[in-house]
Amino acid sequence: MSMSAERAIRNAHDWFEVNDGWAPPDEDTLADWLADGVCRCPDECLVTPNGWCRHGLASWHLILSAMAEDGQG
Ligand SMILES: [Zn+2]
Repeated sequence: MSMSAERAIRNAHDWFEVNDGWAPPDEDTLADWLADGVCRCPDECLVTPNGWCRHGLASWHLILSAMAEDGQG
């Protein structure tokens, strides 16, 4: 099993480069998802907050958390 959250986040960034029309969820939307124990991926798949979809894309929660950490680094 070579799939990891880190890999899924990289996949998502690759996906951003070749797909148009996506937008990050706003804070309220993300909070609603997390309150329900779920999260969306950039391609609209429903996953767990710390998971990734069958297409290999990380959840928005993982993606945005990683971006926030990068911003601090
Ligand atoms: Zn998907």
